[in-house]
Amino acid sequence: MVLPTPPAPKIDSCRSLIQGHAKNLADRLYGADGPPLGTRFDEMERIALTVTEELRKRLLDLLLVRQAEAMHQNLPEEHRLCPSCGRETVAQDPEPRVLRCRAAVVEWMEPHRYCSRCRKAFFPQSKLLGIDTSNYSTALLDLIVYAGANKTSFREASRDLLKMSGQTVLEKQVERLSKRIGLERLEERRAAVEHFAKLPLKTRCDGSPEGVEAPGDEYVAVVMADAGMLQLRDTPAKPDEAAKPDEAADPLAALTGDAAEVDEIDDEDEDQDRPPSGRHWREDKVGLALTMKSKVSETDPCPEIPETFIDRQRVGKIVRGLKKSAALRAEEDGVAEASSASPPEETVERAEIDYEGPKLEKRMVLASRKSWPIFGVMLACMAWMAGFAKAKRKAFVADGARAIWRVWKSRFSSYVPILDFIHALSYVFAAAKVVGGENEAEGWRLYVEWIRWVWQGQVATVIERLRQWQQDHGAPEKGESTTTDRSVVAKSLRYLTNNMDKMKYAEYRKQGLPLVSSLVESMVKQISRRVKGTEKFWGDEGAEAVLQLRADYLSDGEVMEGFWQRRQKAATGQRPYRTNS
Ligand SMILES: [Zn+2]
Repeated sequence: MVLPTPPAPKIDSCRSLIQGHAKNLADRLYGADGPPLGTRFDEMERIALTVTEELRKRLLDLLLVRQAEAMHQNLPEEHRLCPSCGRETVAQDPEPRVLRCRAAVVEWMEPHRYCSRCRKAFFPQSKLLGIDTSNYSTALLDLIVYAGANKTSFREASRDLLKMSGQTVLEKQVERLSKRIGLERLEERRAAVEHFAKLPLKTRCDGSPEGVEAPGDEYVAVVMADAGMLQLRDTPAKPDEAAKPDEAADPLAALTGDAAEVDEIDDEDEDQDRPPSGRHWREDKVGLALTMKSKVSETDPCPEIPETFIDRQRVGKIVRGLKKSAALRAEEDGVAEASSASPPEETVERAEIDYEGPKLEKRMVLASRKSWPIFGVMLACMAWMAGFAKAKRKAFVADGARAIWRVWKSRFSSYVPILDFIHALSYVFAAAKVVGGENEAEGWRLYVEWIRWVWQGQVATVIERLRQWQQDHGAPEKGESTTTDRSVVAKSLRYLTNNMDKMKYAEYRKQGLPLVSSLVESMVKQISRRVKGTEKFWGDEGAEAVLQLRADYLSDGEVMEGFWQRRQKAATGQRPYRTNS
């Protein structure tokens, strides 16, 4: 049953009343002549805040007391029924209630009923007010959870709440409330993904959710994915064993139709980050569903490679930046990340200015620690909710990590697969340096020649050159060091060969598709700013909850606003069952 929202009484009609009260207050506080000379404004401002705080409290107290009394005298039958079983409840003594809200701390006696069948207390006023039975109003919860999800730590969130809104919320409390709301969002996500997975294949492939408009012809639907790092609290004896119980209990595991419930370690996978051993580092995943605007052209709009990619200094920077993921570099340097990770990102951004790729219009963000197969279903669900199934142009961009391309194969095979150009570049650079031999200038010349070919979609020619070199110099032997010339070339050769079907860059430019995955890489950094740090250790559940919230707040569109509206509508006026968490 959805109640009609009664119109709020006209505030305009109160204006003259407020004016009268303000005049009386001014008279009482400082007399008709106003504050004596020398009175600082600071004092006046504090008085104004205190007075209005008092007024807010009195007003809300009165409104709630009056409503409670009216409910006590005459509560329509429909509001007396138990939300669990639908039976009539019996009136009990009213209970004292304290509600912290942004405006004040409100206190009143709340009507209280009881269902003898369910043996549960029932608070019809809370249900009708759309608040839960805890001590926080929705607006204050929103404020606390926003701080908890976006500040670098719960401690900083607590400090900011005090300084910026005058709310005293202890660090632990910020953590507890953020986790609670995050878990509610996870429950919504689970339900959405389950619903999606049960849709007929046809609907999933070319339908769209009710009320969602598919991106029009001038847009391209882009999905990107990448991995970051965070630390879990306990190092289990065997990392791969420890992940199992959690995933096995995951209802989404059944939906993947894939035996792999945990991430496999793929030794041949060059772009997969490996956590430093003996530590608490674990992988988290970040996915984007991006609506981007671009044009389709008859011919390649940018056949000549941008300067950035043939500028010695800049290329050096790009390659150094990619050698290690930002996550691991920060850990090894022992510095609080983010700040150290800027050079590669800057370079990539500059590169994009050279080639006018598609422009970002809207982004939806997903972050989770689930295994790649499960993450793939969740990402597919997010893309579907954005109406991507119906889009005419679709692209999937990532580095060469094989786990991500398995996601593409099983969930996004109708999307044009694109290997991040920057990653391709770093492998071409490494191989050219070796093939150039002692002569550094020759290595650079080869690089420029080869990367031009790659840019123009002729990676096959580069592969041919590398094959020839490998034939002349022999393949690395089993167990040979990865840094020998033969090994470096073999690695690049393997990488380019494996990914050549995703390197038709000239064609992608004609289609107006993106060439780089920098948007998801910088999103990994934004997520990491919250969850990753040498001093940050997460519980499994807490990590997932905060990842979800951080992604929600980083998404365009009113994700959390929608959530708070649904949450108010779903209020039961019953106390939640106590859980052991
Ligand atoms: Zn009941």
